[in-house]
Amino acid sequence: MRLFDEKVFLRLLLVLASVFFAAFIPEILSTREHLIWAVPYILADFFLVTVAVLYRFPVIGNRKRMRDDVEITSPTPAPTPIRDFKKDLMERDELFQMMVDVSSNGFWTFDVITGKVYWSKRAIKLLQAQASTIQDSFDLLKDRIVESDWLRFKDELKLALETGEKFNLTVSLLDGAVDSKLLISGHVQLNEDGHPIRIVGALDENSDKQAQEKQNYYYVYQDALTGVYNRKFFLEKLKVDVDMALQRPDYLFAVALLDIDRFGAINTSYSINVGDNVLRVVADRIKTQCRVGDTIARIGPDVFAIVLHDIQKNDDSDVKSIVRRIHSAVKQPIQLEGRELYIGVSMAVALNREVDCVEDIMANVTSSLREMKKSVNHGGIQFFSGGIREKAMRLYKLEFDIRKAIQAQEFVLFYQPIVDITNGNRIVAFEALVRWNQSKSKFISPAEFIPIAEETGLIIPLGAQILKMACMQAKSWVDQGFTDIQVAVNFSAKQFALDNMIDDIKQVLLETHLNPKNLKLEITEYTAVCEAEKTVKLMNALSSMGIQISIDDFGTGYSSLSYLKRFPIHTLKMDKSFIDHVTDDEEDASFARMVIGIAKSMNLDLIAEGVETESQLEFLKAEGCKLIQGFYFSKPLSAENAREYLQQHYIATKDLPVADSSVNDIPVIERSTVGTNNYIM
Ligand code: C2E
Ligand code: MG
Ligand code: MG
Repeated sequence: MRLFDEKVFLRLLLVLASVFFAAFIPEILSTREHLIWAVPYILADFFLVTVAVLYRFPVIGNRKRMRDDVEITSPTPAPTPIRDFKKDLMERDELFQMMVDVSSNGFWTFDVITGKVYWSKRAIKLLQAQASTIQDSFDLLKDRIVESDWLRFKDELKLALETGEKFNLTVSLLDGAVDSKLLISGHVQLNEDGHPIRIVGALDENSDKQAQEKQNYYYVYQDALTGVYNRKFFLEKLKVDVDMALQRPDYLFAVALLDIDRFGAINTSYSINVGDNVLRVVADRIKTQCRVGDTIARIGPDVFAIVLHDIQKNDDSDVKSIVRRIHSAVKQPIQLEGRELYIGVSMAVALNREVDCVEDIMANVTSSLREMKKSVNHGGIQFFSGGIREKAMRLYKLEFDIRKAIQAQEFVLFYQPIVDITNGNRIVAFEALVRWNQSKSKFISPAEFIPIAEETGLIIPLGAQILKMACMQAKSWVDQGFTDIQVAVNFSAKQFALDNMIDDIKQVLLETHLNPKNLKLEITEYTAVCEAEKTVKLMNALSSMGIQISIDDFGTGYSSLSYLKRFPIHTLKMDKSFIDHVTDDEEDASFARMVIGIAKSMNLDLIAEGVETESQLEFLKAEGCKLIQGFYFSKPLSAENAREYLQQHYIATKDLPVADSSVNDIPVIERSTVGTNNYIM
């Protein structure tokens, strides 16, 4: 309630003035010469009265507050609840205090009037002060920093109080490690008259140290090449999601893997630099297609992993659309150094359904990726389904069994004859074909276990065992008088790529005392062209040792004739798939003719593989193909049956008739009946 109100006072003054002027009205009316003024005079007085009663006078100073004061006493209740400003203030202080406490920075305030200093808990911690230290003065700081810094701080404080300017300085802690420096800053608060009333300041760890920590974090968790996270971070993040899903069964997330198809070829065909840039582009493209907050990492040389956290729709359509978006963006042509590169991208995705550990979801998604990479239409997206995992489990079991079987020497060799039809169907060589003698009655086909042995690297010890067995067998036949017989051993790409491959072969030949001319190596067209330069060197070394080389499955691979010319090879083996239809498909027939022509023009031997029928044989014979391998003559034979076959069909080179006759004139030795009931494919 206010004692003095300017509006009331003004009104009173006006009323008094109008009464005063009204007092003269009778006199004006009574005097003739003043009569002319009577009407304006009365009107003016009436105006004064009206103003005094009706006019709303403006107030001086803070009118709003005056009116509020009046309104507080007004009988009309306030529409909003009356607020407790004191409580509000306390709450705000508490909130501020909490914010100060959780901040990684320390805070301090200096009250100019009382001289008291307030230090936040974090500030005390940063200063590493003793609990016993007095904590409401600058002594806390003085006791903890080196003297020269304390003097500098005092100067800065003084200057700030005089000028009102902010200050910043780095101080070194006493008895601290080399990097125990603090950044201290202050900001002066002034009152209405411009006098300092308080200094508000912050304490922070040395920025160098922070930068170092950031750097360390970068090294530990980030992939230096692409800037996305690394495998370590990815697995940690995945673990968090797996744990979350265990607590909240409705929590859905997905893991996607992205693999660049034939990335090695980019590195070898262009340069490592180009390869690196491709990886950077891929990382950037994934980033732009993912949602904010999803985790992107590079977990292998050309494999990226993405955790799609917290998927909203339970029907996984969300995931499908994100993954398709990423896939289509990443495989767009890449413009690099003035050229356009096309990359193939295989992706696999697994949701966290029915998994309760990182290993499980990773096994699901990796088996899906493996499935995709193996399929003919690799370069697409494979969504995980239960069947894939079962298949993967079967493969893991098979891998385990192969490992055991190598140790238990359960692998045996069968031998399929290669026959020269121009010399009375005499046998010139055997191809050694491995069989897994898992139990007495159960043989497993190499088509089932060789690809897994290759994928897992088990082909290396298995291949070594096979080579040794084949050489021992060949030597035994040579010793029995079949001196010209050759044994052809299949060599996988991984074996061929081994650094000590040549030495290993030499060693086996030494141990078995086999003449290198009795050994032949079969490598597929794909293996040969994979690393052409290296292949040429290795082949030269092998042929200088006297070992012959065959290109297996010729026609199914990618070799161009120019490649072939550079390889010191001896034989081409035309793949069975072309032989199958030589008699009923003109295209296959002309392909077979072409291969026979290539072999002739390059002066190479040609073996037709998989010959099963007489009509196929007739066709090949007519086209001038000399060497035949196939069920028509014999299925692969056990070592024992192979020896019998040898006895029936072996003719030493020296015993051959000196023939200049054509293929068709050669007298044909009858087909063997050796072990017909025991043949195993
Ligand atoms: P490959 O080297 O092309 O061997 C020829 C395959 O064709 C053999 O299958 C053989 O039994 C089969 N074959 C030959 N003639 C006929 C025929 O007239 N009709 C039919 N239907 N098939 C015929 P196999 O023994 O099942 O071997 C399959 C593949 O497994 C081989 O193809 C080779 O790539 C691989 N392999 C076999 N043994 C070894 C080995 O010791 N080491 C390596 N690295 N791979 C091997
Ligand atoms: Mg072969
Ligand atoms: Mg073959």
